[in-house]
Amino acid sequence: MKIYNSLTHKVEELVPNEAGRLSMYTCGPTVYHYAHIGNLRSYIMEDVLEKYLRYTGLDVKRVMNITDVGHLTSDGDTGDDKMLKGAKREHKTVMEIARFYTDAFFDDCAKLNIKTPDVVEPATGCIGDFIKVISSLIDKGYAYEAGGNIYFDTSKLKEYYVFGDFNEEDLEVGVREGVEADENKRNKADFVLWFTKSKFDDQELKWDSPWGVGYPGWHIECSCISMKHLGERLDLHCGGIDNQFPHHTNEIAQSEAYLGHKWCNYWFHVHHLNTNSGKMSKSKGEFLTVSLLEQKGYNPLVYRYFCLLSHYRKSLVFSYENLDNAKASFEKLISRIAAVVKDAVGEVDKAEFARLKAGFDAALGNDLNTSLAITAVYDVLKADVNAATKLALIEDFDQVLSLDLVKQAKALNKAQEQENEEIPVEVNKLVEQRAAARRAKDFARADELRAQIEQLGWLVKETREGTKLSRK
Ligand code: AMP
Ligand code: ZN
Repeated sequence: MKIYNSLTHKVEELVPNEAGRLSMYTCGPTVYHYAHIGNLRSYIMEDVLEKYLRYTGLDVKRVMNITDVGHLTSDGDTGDDKMLKGAKREHKTVMEIARFYTDAFFDDCAKLNIKTPDVVEPATGCIGDFIKVISSLIDKGYAYEAGGNIYFDTSKLKEYYVFGDFNEEDLEVGVREGVEADENKRNKADFVLWFTKSKFDDQELKWDSPWGVGYPGWHIECSCISMKHLGERLDLHCGGIDNQFPHHTNEIAQSEAYLGHKWCNYWFHVHHLNTNSGKMSKSKGEFLTVSLLEQKGYNPLVYRYFCLLSHYRKSLVFSYENLDNAKASFEKLISRIAAVVKDAVGEVDKAEFARLKAGFDAALGNDLNTSLAITAVYDVLKADVNAATKLALIEDFDQVLSLDLVKQAKALNKAQEQENEEIPVEVNKLVEQRAAARRAKDFARADELRAQIEQLGWLVKETREGTKLSRK
């Protein structure tokens, strides 16, 4: 597979350290609130990437952290502690908040058919690992103590801004005006590895350390959790584009200083989902969650489909109008597949299967072009080949796309069959008698008749359009 590597700014062949195996690390959610659908865009695209790598035959091991400590609202070392903010908002403890929103995150992922990574590790479970790496960074001269905190010294590196395009000024982004600069830092870009003195005197989660009671900075958790489960040489690291700086820049700085060699070869960054008024946020405008989309009547997989229609390296604008267009096109696609399901008898044409599969492979193999992969599904539907081959191809592609294409097509066929099924005369008679009982306001008799209808395998329901019958 070829993939755009943010580190080299080039589309490159993805070659794992160990042939046939690939280690993949993903920055997990900060569990202080529900994930918004922007966060979930990143996880959907990473899920397609993981599934495509498996589809090509690689043995993938994927690890994700859960950020339940240390992430401040600025992504740097200023602002409020997100977890503490969440706990205060809901009058709960930090751990209660973490548990609740971790479960909510995985519920959302399940609805979007996002696979759970092989290893999921909360930061609060790895404090000993953080302390070990920070101690070693101090010993090696890459970290220093000042004002009670431990900082990484970015001036000790030959190159700190490894992704290019960034500088000290970018550290100010997202920081509210009036936030005081941290006088303890030797260089503006230095970052906290361990806090013992912070403005959060009410910090709930604190651990003993060689430098006093305190808690870890955000960046150290990803380096340590990745090394713990995936070893010293990581193949692929993923995250949203905002993670590139300072978070991933700091991960590389501390990991390579600790290891003394290159840590991760490929960096995959998903661009943002925006609204018409700019960056998606949990605090401004409508808080767009999967549950909200469901409440509005959308199948969550319509949102997955909407994401797949765009390339992960382009920002995507969310509006209900755009989502409705995706919904209409998704429903049409399902009904076309439903027709294929009905006709699918006979042998799969192996040569045509291979030819059409090659189109799908070419799309995803070239920097994960998901919109062309969807086009490949349409190419199958249009192809001059029997329905059995079409169905086999769609089932094959859906291992990666995870849109439940065949499952939904079968459900649609079943619903239509039920609608078209002839209602037995006996049932119709009972329905008429029930209607008469209702008109006469004899509801006890109407209920009796409903039970008799149910015994014959039919359900009767009152709707705005009148009485509806369906198969039990
Ligand atoms: P957080 O829970 O804030 O740590 O973010 C979880 C993931 O969502 C990170 O990989 C972020 O880079 C990513 N992310 C944040 N905002 C957006 C957005 N608007 N669109 C896509 N990904 C995002
Ligand atoms: Zn991370």
